[in-house]
Amino acid sequence: MLIVQKFGGTSVGDLERIQNVANRVSETRKAGNDVVVVVSAMSGETNKLVAYAEHFSATPERGEVDMLLSSGERVTAALLAIALNEMGHAAVSMSGRRAGIVTDNLHTKARIEEIDPSAMHKAIKEGKIIVVAGFQGVSLDGNVTTLGRGGSDLSAVAIAGAIGADLCEIYTDVSGIYTTDPRIEPKAKKLDRISYDEMLELASLGAKVLQNRSVELAKKLNVNLVTRTSFSNEEGTLITKEENIMEKPLVSGIALDKNQARVSLFAVKDRTGIASEIFNKLAQSSVNIDMIIQNVAHDGSANIDFTVPVSDLTDAKAVVDGFIQSGDIKGASYDEKICKVSIVGVGMKSHTGVAAKAFTTMATENINITMISTSEIKVSMVIAEKYAELAVRSLHDAYELDK
Ligand code: ADP
Ligand code: ASP
Ligand code: MG
Repeated sequence: MLIVQKFGGTSVGDLERIQNVANRVSETRKAGNDVVVVVSAMSGETNKLVAYAEHFSATPERGEVDMLLSSGERVTAALLAIALNEMGHAAVSMSGRRAGIVTDNLHTKARIEEIDPSAMHKAIKEGKIIVVAGFQGVSLDGNVTTLGRGGSDLSAVAIAGAIGADLCEIYTDVSGIYTTDPRIEPKAKKLDRISYDEMLELASLGAKVLQNRSVELAKKLNVNLVTRTSFSNEEGTLITKEENIMEKPLVSGIALDKNQARVSLFAVKDRTGIASEIFNKLAQSSVNIDMIIQNVAHDGSANIDFTVPVSDLTDAKAVVDGFIQSGDIKGASYDEKICKVSIVGVGMKSHTGVAAKAFTTMATENINITMISTSEIKVSMVIAEKYAELAVRSLHDAYELDK
């Protein structure tokens, strides 16, 4: 088999753990497989580098940030290759560039445009174990880019697709995908299987166990994706097509996103096209908008509220300030002390009352819901951040996910 194995930050968190990863890769190789390994930076490393940059500037130039952040993954890749060579394997590390990962030039959240797998194919043919530095690529104009936080998952899936791997294993510090973050609800249960669509919703709604774009791509390329732990041989969770899942629970999982902020625009001028102007400007600044609510007052002017990731708030503020200066908006306020709690499940498609139960559960706990959004397979609610964990646990109980 041709297997891609990705190891996250905790799994390569210190030298002993890197040796542990080397042992696992070695076993996979000795069992007769070809292996391409993708590694993250050692845990905490990327955050440390971000803090270094912010020591000098609140708005560091993004190309420089990518130059800086991409170094973390290269350290781990080289160390793992050295460890594997020492064990008698022929291993070679590759930067994103050498692995042929070409992206657009949207620094710090670049998208993969294409992968040229020729260098990887050549090394595999020569019997080498390849260790790719995750999270990075090279733009068409030759600059180092990074793929957004958690982006090593995306590197792994994209590489698995490009080289036609039989399996893509994501090794992390929990033994699979649980009904909710096991750090918040110890009663959470590990799922044997979950559909691409449910996993995509969970990941997009805050379950950082997999980066959402990696799940999107896995679905598109039909990559066999397994999440498991690097600390034991326990079986993980298979992320697969919905038709491969026999039992379809009403609710499969609960996600929590604390990294959301609410933007409230007051007295937005009543004229045609104003919403389109505001949201187009936000899109041009790469601000990710999620929920939007508009209330029209008696005088015809509107209040518009929406949520953005906290990391996009500075960019959002800059856009909003422009509209305040031009007089299109009277004022704005910002609230970072919110969170988004979501329930996800394909079973919702064919059942009624799922959302009602979520609202009742919040009411019973005296938690005020300030925004709601739904899709076919999810219900999301914005609440005050201080109730985040309580909300997750109550919903977990209400849908009996521990059973
Ligand atoms: P890595 O460094 O390996 O990429 P991450 O920290 O990005 O690992 O993701 C693993 C973490 O995701 C777990 O430690 C867990 O706290 C969190 N997590 C959130 N939601 C879930 C879930 N539904 N199932 C499993 N883990 C989850
Ligand atoms: N090291 C990067 C991060 O912390 C990428 C990753 O770990 O996937 O976001
Ligand atoms: Mg991760």
